[in-house]
Order: sequence, then structure tokens, then C-alpha cells
Amino acid sequence: MHIYPDAKAVIEALGPDEPIICNRPHAADRAARFFTAKFPGETLYAVKANPSPELLKVLWGAGVTHYDVASIAEVRLARETLPDATLCFMHPVKTRRAVREAYHQHGVRVFALDTQEELEKIVTACSDDEGNPAEDLRLLVRMRVSSDHSELSLASKFGAELGEAAPLLQTTRQHCDWLGVCFHVGSQAMSPFAYVQALDRVRAAIAEAAVTVDVIDVGGGFPSIYPDMEPPPLEDYFTIIKQHFEALPIAYNADLWCEPGRALCAEYSSLLVCVEKRRGNELYINDGAYGALFDAAHVGWRFPVNALEDDLIKPLSDFAFFGPTCDDIDYMPGPFSLPEDIQSGDYIEIGMIGAYGSAMKTGFNGFGDAEQVIVHDEPMASLYRGDRVRPESDNVVSLR
Ligand SMILES: *Cc1c(COP(=O)(O)O)cnc(C)c1O
Repeated sequence: MHIYPDAKAVIEALGPDEPIICNRPHAADRAARFFTAKFPGETLYAVKANPSPELLKVLWGAGVTHYDVASIAEVRLARETLPDATLCFMHPVKTRRAVREAYHQHGVRVFALDTQEELEKIVTACSDDEGNPAEDLRLLVRMRVSSDHSELSLASKFGAELGEAAPLLQTTRQHCDWLGVCFHVGSQAMSPFAYVQALDRVRAAIAEAAVTVDVIDVGGGFPSIYPDMEPPPLEDYFTIIKQHFEALPIAYNADLWCEPGRALCAEYSSLLVCVEKRRGNELYINDGAYGALFDAAHVGWRFPVNALEDDLIKPLSDFAFFGPTCDDIDYMPGPFSLPEDIQSGDYIEIGMIGAYGSAMKTGFNGFGDAEQVIVHDEPMASLYRGDRVRPESDNVVSLR
């Protein structure tokens, strides 16, 4: 990857027709070091948020040794990229073949499940040729919890209900010496209280099951920072999680895990796009719903934007974007705040697309190519930079 000081230098050097992804390894490194130093337990990176091998190596270099993988392709990719990493297969619905390959060929020992059927599948797929069961399985029961405090729900698809969790914990305990409970409060949880509610459910399930639990995995959901979404400091989340974890009826030496995706990689990338046409306050740009701006189109996510021409004069005005494909749904309502004299041929940097942005790009309609470069400047916003807007908070906001 070529290296530039910032997005403007990329435009000056390349004058690109296609969108460009600007990666900031220093920002991902800083986020990972924050988690490994301050989260009161083990930090797993959720690979689906951004599976780029370059990013995985940055996180590894910053001390992240455990990775949450959800498909056999992610298992293979993570194993190939990081031969010594601990891989945890956390999707609660896997194929028998995927479990077998993960266990026997890639050294995966940690698996999540939310039904008796999945438990049976894991136990048989990991047994040896003579049918002897594996003795080193580490199994986590995924519980369903509320997504009420999160911007993107993960509540309806996976997880055992409270009533099912206790019997499932009891049978799972019979197949492993290391038992855990995991959940996911939904992505971009805007309040630490999300984890309190979830841990209350976990407490009820463990009390009812009366089994020894060796690990509590509070999942992902840790927020990043976007326009109109300024979360409390991450330390508040960590403190509250630790308090409620320590009050659980679990083994005295039980571990605490978390699985952030977004919080570790949102700041890693921004996107450079070119305006190809203007119609009133709608800008036709060269990336969109089928590209790195999936969330901007499908859930109306607002990303921070910055016009890169020097001669544009403020004031700012509100704009919506159309992406390059022929579909009407390739539309991002925003509003995105840009100089009112922006026009075709101008470039825009769209920030904070490192999580669920570049990972979602497709080649639909012949669009989707995007060169990746490295830039050295700061991301448009950061939870980790330390130059605080509010003295009591860790957030820095330089958003419009
Ligand atoms: C997606 C996912 C994560 C990461 O979620 P973020 O909201 O990006 O932190 C963690 N764990 C599981 C099981 C997931 O599916």
C-alpha cells in the first residue's frame, strides 16, 4: 500500500476516478492498545467488522491474541494471517463440516452454541476417528438479550431464551471442562446500561442452572463516534461491566471476555469519493449502498464528511448522496453537511468507515473497485485521542 500524509495528498497524487480507501494503522493500533490495557479481561476482535489481513496484523501487534470468527472462511483467513492466534468460533449456527475442519485442522477449541442440537453437532464433529469425544472443548452458551440501548439490533436472531438457558448450560457442562456464557447487546450500544441488563439475565440463568461457569463473554456493541452519536467514555462501560461481572455467582477465578468489532476498527478507514453530478442538494458520488456505504443507505447511518477542495467557501448546506449503481435504493439520505458551492469534480472524504464499511463492498453493477492506501493524519473523530472536548470525557469530536 502506498503511503500519503492525508487524503488531500492522495487526490493531488492520483486524481482518482474510483473511490479510494484510506487506512490509518496508527488509529487501529491505538484502539487495540486502549482495549488491551483498560478492558478488565481478554479482548477478542470480531473479524467480521473488517477482515483485512493488514488490519488483523496491526491488532495482533497491539496485543490482541484472540479472534472471534463466524464462518469457516474467516477461520481459514485468520489462521493463515495469524498462525498463533486463539480463534473462537462464535456463530451459534455452524455446519458440521465447518466445525470439524475448525477443530481438526485449525486448532479451534472455543465454540458458541444456543441449542441442544448445535451442542450435539459440535460434540460429534470434534470427536476422533474412533468416536471418542474431545476432552479440550471450551463451550459458550449464547443467551438472547435486549438490544434496546443499541443503534443496530442483534436481538432477534440468536441466543437461548432465559427459560432454555439453564437446561442448556447443564447439558453443555457435561461435555466440557470450561464453560462460558456469551451474549451481544447489539451494535453501537449508546449506554453502558445495556451490559447491566444483559448481565442480570446471565445471573438469573446461572443461578437457575447451578453450574460452575468459567468465562463471561460480554460480546461486542462497544460504540464508536459518529455525528449525533457521541457515546459516554469507554471507561464507563468497562467499570460498570467489571462491577456486575464480579457480583455474578461464578467460579472465583472466572475470566471476563469482550468481542469488540466496531470499536477497534471504525477509525481505521475513511473513504475518498468524487462528486460526478449535482442535482439540487443531491450529490451523485462514486460509491454507495453496494459499496462501503451500506449502513449509510440501509440504516440511514450518518458518517462525518469533509470536502477536500481548498477553494470551496462555506457556509455549509445539507446534502444527500446517490451511489453509482442504477438502483434507486443506492441512496444515502444523510444529511451530510458540505460547503454549499460543492459541485461535480470535487472530492469528499467520508470518515469512520473502517467498521462494516470497506468489509461490505460488493462488485454489483461493475462498481466496487477501490484502491487502498495508508494515510498518516488523524481520523475525523476518535474515542482514543485524548484531546477531550468535555474534560470529563475521553471523547474527541471534530464532527459537523
Ligand atoms: C458482530 C459481532 C461482534 C462485534 O460487534 P460490534 O458491535 O461490531 O462490536 C461481536 N460478537 C459477535 C458474536 C458478533 O456477531
